[in-house]
Amino acid sequence: MSIQQAIEKIEAQYGHQSEFIQAAKEIALTIKPLYDAHPEYEALKVFERLIEPDRIFNFRVNWENDKGEVQVNRGWRVQFNNALGPYKGGLRFHPTVTESVLKFLGFEQIFKNALTGLPIGGGKGGSDFDPKGKTDSEVRRFCYAFMRELHHYISKDIDVPAGDIGVGGREVSYMYAMYKNLTRESTGVITGKGVGFGGSLMRTEATGYGAVYFLENMLKAQNEDLEGKIVLVSGAGNVSLHAAEKATALGAVVVTVSDSQGTLYDKSGFNQEKTDWLKAQKQQSKPLAEYVDIYGGEWLANKKPWSIKGDIAIPSATQNEVNEDDAKLMVDNGIKYVVEGANMPLTADAIDYIRLHHVYYAPGKAANAGGVAVSALEMSQNSVRQYQTFDEVDERLKCIMKNIHDSATEASEQYGQTKNGYIDYMAGANMVGFKRVADALVAYGILN
Ligand code: NDP
Repeated sequence: MSIQQAIEKIEAQYGHQSEFIQAAKEIALTIKPLYDAHPEYEALKVFERLIEPDRIFNFRVNWENDKGEVQVNRGWRVQFNNALGPYKGGLRFHPTVTESVLKFLGFEQIFKNALTGLPIGGGKGGSDFDPKGKTDSEVRRFCYAFMRELHHYISKDIDVPAGDIGVGGREVSYMYAMYKNLTRESTGVITGKGVGFGGSLMRTEATGYGAVYFLENMLKAQNEDLEGKIVLVSGAGNVSLHAAEKATALGAVVVTVSDSQGTLYDKSGFNQEKTDWLKAQKQQSKPLAEYVDIYGGEWLANKKPWSIKGDIAIPSATQNEVNEDDAKLMVDNGIKYVVEGANMPLTADAIDYIRLHHVYYAPGKAANAGGVAVSALEMSQNSVRQYQTFDEVDERLKCIMKNIHDSATEASEQYGQTKNGYIDYMAGANMVGFKRVADALVAYGILN
């Protein structure tokens, strides 16, 4: 079955899962040169096998709110592919979570994890539970209840979850506590744990910092650097604020962050003091708009950051937050580099538009792979029960991000996708990640 036929098959079967179809098509469109050069992939139906998850667990989560009322949510764990190692990928708690969203995230995760060069497969999970407006005890009861179901399907060598939107250190701690309580095991079954009880230093910072390390490599390839560059960041969560922090530390001027209520614009940039304020404000679920009373700048209610002039955009909030109109704004406003901190923040039309205009584009599966890479380092530290310093992990992260950049660049050239010096990072990264998994599947025969 050809790639095209495989896509038609999933469209017929899962046409309603728009995010998943979007992610599958993106890979399908870009790996063709690699696929054509390897007839064994088609003979063994590698693409057709890869777009079907190994299995999906789908469960009910009952919990009690502070009034003693029973609440019911849905939970999922998508174990997509474990050709390269245990299923690995975060848990998302957000009302927009559906099976389609988790399948798109799990599918992307397979190739992202392969790109890190570390032995991890791809998975994703989560719930339609909305942590916003919930008390700490409600979040705790939900996390306990969620893990009471999930623990049946995971273990340190089978499937290792982590955080994502709505799941940070607090939620990971509650879930880890329930896992330990039920199994009496102290293992690396979930990553993003507190540093005092098995977590890795730098895991919190890794995704945002890693995206900026990737960006540094892109700039270097064009004989440029971050000094004085104007950067637009969207989101104000874990990825966004750490990307903003590292870009600022390396000389850039980060002028926006945003959230679901609007955009904060400060043309003098967010220095460390302001970034620390932003982190504390979001931690307490308080409005970003209050920044203006303390530090000045502008609050653009219900607006995205893309109407502002800049050199670099790092969309780091959520999927499909940048549509074609936003992409046009970016190009009109001088953006030369787009680095995806979030997973699939650009729609397919937006990607086409910026690539057509030769804006260098780093897809999420390459640029935000630093988080899962440090999660894999956390797993190995848990296994040997020895811990690395912040600087040691940071060095490994820089090295991993450089390797991802360089291998994507090489694949773009090798398969004829680099045209007039424009490196096609999307095609390059997709082909490198895909090849690593596909070669394992070929070696295994028809299992996996
Ligand atoms: P957080 O929950 O910490 O932050 C998410 C941010 O995005 C918040 O500021 C939130 O605003 C904003 N946001 C979410 N949904 C929307 C929306 N529909 N419109 C506008 N703003 C929105 O999540 P993370 O920083 O962890 O994750 C962000 C992205 O990065 C996701 O795509 C995630 O999958 C990806 N990612 C995360 C990794 C990690 O290590 N954390 C690793 C790799 C990828 P508000 O506060 O108002 O809700």
